Amino acid sequence: MLEAAAARDWMLESAASVARERGRLTELDAAIGDGDHGTNLQRGFTAVVAALGGFDPPTPGAVLVKAGTTLISSVGGASGPLYGSALRAVGKALDLPAADGKQLLAALAAGRDALQRLGGAVAGDKTMVDVWIPAVAEFDFALAGGASLPGAAASAAGAAGRGAEDTVPLQARKGRASYLGPRSIGHQDPGATSSALLFRALAVVLGREPG
Ligand code: ADP
Ligand code: MG
Repeated sequence: MLEAAAARDWMLESAASVARERGRLTELDAAIGDGDHGTNLQRGFTAVVAALGGFDPPTPGAVLVKAGTTLISSVGGASGPLYGSALRAVGKALDLPAADGKQLLAALAAGRDALQRLGGAVAGDKTMVDVWIPAVAEFDFALAGGASLPGAAASAAGAAGRGAEDTVPLQARKGRASYLGPRSIGHQDPGATSSALLFRALAVVLGREPG
C-alpha cells in the first residue's frame, strides 16, 4: 500500500536521485536544450523537501498535491509546470489513507494524462511522455499478471528506463529540443531521463515495504 509516509518517501527519494544525477541531466539538456534541467529540478525538489518538512498530511494525495504545487512555483523551465501538474493529478486521485495497486495505477495514469493535456506531447515526440506512457502501461500489465505493488512498481521502473533510452533515436517535436530539428536525433531526452528517475524512486520506496 502507498500511504502518506510512503508518498513523502517517494518525494524524498526523488529529490536525492535528482541531486545525484543533476550533472547528467544538465549535460543531456546542454546537448539538445539550454543546459538547465538538472539545476531546475534540483531547485524544485529542494523546495519540495522543504515544503514537506513539518507537514503531516493524512493522505498520500495531500503529499503529492503539495509537491506538485511546489514544483510549479519553484521551477522556471518547462519541466516545472509539467511535473507539477502531473504530480498534482496523481495526488488528486489519491485522496484516501492508503492506495493499493489499482488505485496507484489509476493515479499514475491521471498524472500521465495531465502531462499530455498540458504539454500536448504524444508518444514519440521525445519528451517525458515517452517514459510515462510505457511505465504506466507496464505497471498495468504487471498488476494484471498478478504482480504485487512493489513488483509492479519495479517493472514500471524498468520500462521507464528503457523508455528514456528509446528517446535517443527520436527527433524532438515538442519543447526546446524541437528547435534543433534533426540535430536532436542521437541524444537522450533530459525530461525522459528525469521521469525515469521518479519511477525508479517509487520502486525503491515501495520495495522497502513488505509486499
Ligand atoms: P526548458 O526546456 O524550459 O529549459 P527543462 O530543461 O527543465 O525546461 O525541461 C526540458 C524537458 O521538458 C524536455 O527534455 C522534455 O522532456 C520536457 N518537455 C518540454 N516540452 C514538453 C512538452 N510539451 N510535453 C512534455 N514534455 C516536455
Ligand atoms: Mg532546459
